[in-house]
Amino acid sequence: GELGLEQNGLVIAHYGQQLDIEALEGPECGQVFRCFVRANIDSLVTGDRVVWRPGKSATGVVVARCDRENLLQRPDNFGALKPVAANIDHIILVIAPEPEPHDNLIDRYLVASESSDIPAVILLNKTDLINDNNRTQIETLLDRYQALGYHVARTSAAQTNGAPAPEVEALVRGQTSVFVGQSGVGKSSIIQTLLPDELLRVGAVSESTGKGVHTTTTAKLFHLSGGGDLIDSPGIREFGLWHMTPQEVEYGFREIRPLIGLCKFRNCRHMGDPGCALDAAAASGDLSPERLKSFHRILQDMADQQARGLKLT
Ligand code: GDP
Ligand code: ZN
Repeated sequence: GELGLEQNGLVIAHYGQQLDIEALEGPECGQVFRCFVRANIDSLVTGDRVVWRPGKSATGVVVARCDRENLLQRPDNFGALKPVAANIDHIILVIAPEPEPHDNLIDRYLVASESSDIPAVILLNKTDLINDNNRTQIETLLDRYQALGYHVARTSAAQTNGAPAPEVEALVRGQTSVFVGQSGVGKSSIIQTLLPDELLRVGAVSESTGKGVHTTTTAKLFHLSGGGDLIDSPGIREFGLWHMTPQEVEYGFREIRPLIGLCKFRNCRHMGDPGCALDAAAASGDLSPERLKSFHRILQDMADQQARGLKLT
């Protein structure tokens, strides 16, 4: 059939062999077209910018993919990395006083974000649940990450009557965001305040569909009313909780990264080996003992997993 001129578009969802492409220019700017993909293009994901040609009745053909700024990937059931979403400005790591934050889990998310080259910010939700029993612990935790250069914000999704909290709007405005974090911290609640109801009703975003053997990774891109985009899927919310190589873990601890070449022995495993620069840094107070412990724990977990030949779930 006849196709229109080549133009720029954005992948906002994908369904098997077809993609929803939003026109980024021309008289149909902002409209969505159900597109097929030329066979010579490698796999496209939500957030990809593409060159496409409109066809008849809201269809089209994607002819090229633009260069990506970054790519969020996750392993399939056989451990092979599969792209999930592209061109993400930041990962918003949600934590809460309840369920209690696990530093090790936070570090895993941060390692995954560092090795994907996507900056992470930490968002403490449920500030209404902070009390004299947990305040010191939470503040100590947040201070540690702030000292490492991670931006920290605080909110309470339960206290906004469904409206977006200004501090959350400030984080997402003008950015392409993904929300990650352990179950129960309030990701859905926060996302609900950001998306209009009609989007949520159609929304393919349901945490339950992500469970079990068949993990749906169809990420969708939503435009936020205050400007900025949100990419969400059950798979994205589980980001970071999979196997990482020792090299990724070393790189993913940003304060450990520059120490790695300084150990006495070139084949140092950084697990308490003699002359390890990490132990020296911890002893002199340049490296937090909690982070070093967490680093050791993640390396150990990965080694155990490797030994079992299993995928982390
Ligand atoms: P998700 O698993 O991360 O998506 O978490 P949900 O959004 O489903 O929230 C888990 C539970 O925490 C729900 O019962 C929410 O109502 C509750 N919740 C969410 N935000 C807040 C908050 O700011 N304060 C309090 N007290 N509860 C919250
Ligand atoms: Zn070492």
